[in-house]
Amino acid sequence: MDEVPYDDRDGVIWLNGRVVPWRDAKLHVLSHALHYASSVFEGMRAYNGNIFELSAHNERLHNSAEMLGFEIPYSVSELDDACRETFNTTGASEAYIRPIAWRGPEQMGVSAQACKINVAIAAWQWPAYFTPEARMKGISLDWAPYRRPDPLTAPVHAKAAGLYMICTLSKHAAEAKGSSDALMLDWRGQLAETTGANLFLVIDGKINTPTPDCFLDGITRRSVIKLAQNRGYEVIERAIFPEELGKATEMFVTGTAAEVTPISNIADEYYFEVGTITKTLMNDYDDLVNGRPIAEAAE
Ligand code: PMP
Repeated sequence: MDEVPYDDRDGVIWLNGRVVPWRDAKLHVLSHALHYASSVFEGMRAYNGNIFELSAHNERLHNSAEMLGFEIPYSVSELDDACRETFNTTGASEAYIRPIAWRGPEQMGVSAQACKINVAIAAWQWPAYFTPEARMKGISLDWAPYRRPDPLTAPVHAKAAGLYMICTLSKHAAEAKGSSDALMLDWRGQLAETTGANLFLVIDGKINTPTPDCFLDGITRRSVIKLAQNRGYEVIERAIFPEELGKATEMFVTGTAAEVTPISNIADEYYFEVGTITKTLMNDYDDLVNGRPIAEAAE
């Protein structure tokens, strides 16, 4: 649980090109985004003084906005600079950085043609997404009550606020049953992702991951696929149905917040070990984000 509310903290927030005191970074209650979810955001992490995959995140922010029909009034490189500036104000070497862009209060109603686009960037120390003990043992998942929608029903590749409604509901349902997160299927009944991270399964020594055709193709996911290939592991991207979970020996999730986190069980139906592949990739990812040399496959 976060102890201090997010509107009552020290520090500064980058807001529409200016740096303002943290508590003054406010928006009006009649902002379009609050009513109609016209908002896109990013989550990045800095390690050892550097923001990991900074430009990739800001490019995705731009693409997400485009998918919601608006343009961010700052270029990717301007956003990169603003993220670095905001991170540097924390004085810390590690932080979570959250840029967000949203439609303002210039028009109220479903149509939003006149709304101006606002951008804010905040950086803070986020407590671990999953506790360190839970991470080492592996976290437990429960089945999500909601499914990832068909790409014909929503802009599913955007990191857009509206798509998180079903994630919050699913995560709450999982937490009510004592699990850490929810496993979401997609509209076809295939394995999709958790509420904020991508899935990987080890079957017969090979790494399998669902094709991201209706959910976020995570930046961590792509990094981890490269790390796995670098180690000589075969990575197969394909449609995976829940029936195959019984064949998986290891399972893990990837995400900016989750990093590489092993899964111990799903709803006490399927159990997995925190095995060699998972441990190897946890360490390799840690080396990568911290700028340390990455080990190659042992011949
Ligand atoms: N899926 C969802 C729904 C997410 O919120 C996230 C976190 N941004 C991810 C996957 C993983 O994406 P990334 O590795 O880019 O953080």
